[in-house]
Amino acid sequence: MKLKKHLLLLTFIFTFIIFFKVDAKINQMQLPLLGKLIVIDPGHGGRDPGAIYKDIYESPINLQISKTLMQELEELGAIVYLTRNGEYDISDPNAWNKKHSDLQNRVNLIESSNANLYLSIHLNADVSNTWHGAQVFYDDVNPKNKKLAEIMQNSFESNLKSNRKYKEISTYYMYRRIKSVPGALLEVGFLTNSNERYLLQKKTYQQKISNAITKGVIKFFQN
Ligand SMILES: [Zn+2]
Repeated sequence: MKLKKHLLLLTFIFTFIIFFKVDAKINQMQLPLLGKLIVIDPGHGGRDPGAIYKDIYESPINLQISKTLMQELEELGAIVYLTRNGEYDISDPNAWNKKHSDLQNRVNLIESSNANLYLSIHLNADVSNTWHGAQVFYDDVNPKNKKLAEIMQNSFESNLKSNRKYKEISTYYMYRRIKSVPGALLEVGFLTNSNERYLLQKKTYQQKISNAITKGVIKFFQN
C-alpha cells in the first residue's frame, strides 16, 4: 500500500517535471527573447535631422525602422525601450550644446537601463553615390560588442545582401561611453545611394531590415 502511494507520488512529480520542461521549451521556441530587455536608439531627432538628401531626412526613417523593430522584438517576448518616440531630441532644455547633451542623455539612459542589449539605428551617407549596404559599427569598450557586430553583419549579408564588413570605431562620443550594456551602431543603408534611398522609405524594406536585425538579436542571445 505504501509502495503504491510512493509510486503515485513519483509519477505525479515526473509528470510535473516533464510538463514544465516541455512548457519551457515551447516558450523558448515561440518567445526566444522572453526576459530580455532591449533599448533601441533611433538616431538624431528634433533639431538634428541627421543625413539629408533633398527633402528626405534620416531622422524619421530611423524612427520608423526602430518602431517596426520594437514591435517585432516585443512579439518574440522582449521588453523594449526607445530612447525617443517622436521627432524630438532628448537634450536638456537649458543645455548650451544641444547635440552633446542629447548624446550624453542617450548614454545615461542606456547605462542606467540594466538592458541586455542596445541598438542604435542610423542611415549612412557618403560623397560617392555608389556606396550601399547595411553595416555594423562597434566600440570594443564592452567585450561582447565585437561578437554582436559579427553576428549582425552576417545577418545583413544573408538577409539584406549587404557586402559591407563590420568595423570597429573608437572615436564616437556616444558608443565608447556605454560600458555596461553590449550594443552596436547599425547603419542600415545609404541615403546617398538612389536605389537604397528608394528602398529605405518603403515599409516592406523597413520590415526586411527589422527582420534581419531580429534574426541577429536572437542569434546573439543564443551565443
Ligand atoms: Zn545618423
